[in-house]
Amino acid sequence: MAYPEPLEALIEAFERFPGIGRVSAERLAFHVLRDPQAAALASAIERAARETATCSVCCNIAHRDPCELCSDAARDGAVVCVVEQPRHVEAVERAGVFGGRYHVLMGALNPAEGTEDRHLSVARLVERVVSGGVEEVILATDPDAEGEATALLVVEALEAACPSPPLITRLARGLPAGSSLDYLHRGILEDALAGRRAVGPRTG
Ligand SMILES: [Zn+2]
Repeated sequence: MAYPEPLEALIEAFERFPGIGRVSAERLAFHVLRDPQAAALASAIERAARETATCSVCCNIAHRDPCELCSDAARDGAVVCVVEQPRHVEAVERAGVFGGRYHVLMGALNPAEGTEDRHLSVARLVERVVSGGVEEVILATDPDAEGEATALLVVEALEAACPSPPLITRLARGLPAGSSLDYLHRGILEDALAGRRAVGPRTG
């Protein structure tokens, strides 16, 4: 039994999200159709898409492109802190311990839940480094299995694309295992940054 074409199109739209399989996509589509607020959801999506921008430099979601952090001449463009999510930029900024720039991957590698490397902005980071001016890439992905796998992916992509890769460092191991950058207070983040060490296949 085939669904009406517009419903099928809605299901397929949900299926394109990382981690959403056919069954979940159907459930979401039916929910949207039964919900009297469904029209409000559509306009909220339109408004969010219209009134935000993806920064073409760091890939964060921002008010404008380039974002405020990438446009701030006072920040050090030679040091790029790579984080998983926009909220991690907020967390590091809140701690006030970093004066460089950021790159937001928009997720962490988690094939079991549907997030693959094509969903992450690694290629844009590689372009950014290849185009020059970046001397250090700090990997600040979460200290959990997905964050470690993501950090390795970034290291391999940079080393494969750059004839002379920049210094690549990882936040110190003092971070509580399995924790998220969101919940770290200033002191811990400051120590983790200060204690960062070089990583990568070439350094073991
Ligand atoms: Zn930016």
